Amino acid sequence: MASEVERAQAAAAQADSGAPTIFDKIISKEIPAQVIYEDEEALAFRDINPQGPVHFLVIPKVRNGLTQLSKAKEEHKPLLGHLLYVAAQVAKQEGLSQGYRVVVNDGPNGCQSVYHLHLHIIGGRQMNWPPG
Ligand code: ADP
Repeated sequence: MASEVERAQAAAAQADSGAPTIFDKIISKEIPAQVIYEDEEALAFRDINPQGPVHFLVIPKVRNGLTQLSKAKEEHKPLLGHLLYVAAQVAKQEGLSQGYRVVVNDGPNGCQSVYHLHLHIIGGRQMNWPPG
């Protein structure tokens, strides 16, 4: 099986194709996900490969060019703020009172594998630093 890094590098090759990602299918409910929060702009659902007792993703419902954080434009600022706010509210809802980690993987060096902007929120255990 390909390593995380190999998968991220393969995904990067398709990053600018504009092709739908697995997250589009989750948004359209074509494939199931454990959705834990939804509003007009954002969706939060549990990660299929959790890296802690709690691991969920927050994504914009409309990608609108935001395949990755480094593609952010001025017009995305309100949405970016909203996604962070949703992350904090859902973390509270999930009972992460002792803290948690918010991660955005960007591009091949960041090990991004799905080119639809997403925040990882991981908690329920002690995190370490630095990350790998
Ligand atoms: P990486 O795969 O290296 O963590 P990303 O930051 O792009 O890279 O994260 C994509 C995340 O999406 C992964 O944590 C992966 O487990 C998650 N994921 C992929 N497919 C699904 C799915 N169908 N439902 C929930 N989470 C998914």
